[in-house]
Amino acid sequence: MTETRVACPHCGASVPWTATSPWRPFCSERCRLIDLGAWFDEGHRIPAAPEEDPDAAPLESPEAWESHQDDHTGARSH
Ligand SMILES: [Zn+2]
Repeated sequence: MTETRVACPHCGASVPWTATSPWRPFCSERCRLIDLGAWFDEGHRIPAAPEEDPDAAPLESPEAWESHQDDHTGARSH
């Protein structure tokens, strides 16, 4: 019987892909939490300015959206 194994995305440890590995593809809960935590932290590390917050920017306000776009493209002419 061949056992399927995967490499833990965090530490690279060989993890058997079976029901006995609840944290697969991670080797352990620790690696899983660290990896997901790092990803989550990356997404929230940069504080969003009020203008950059899509939830705060009213969609019906083209001027606000335009100034937002200027930061990224500079293609808008006034
Ligand atoms: Zn690991």
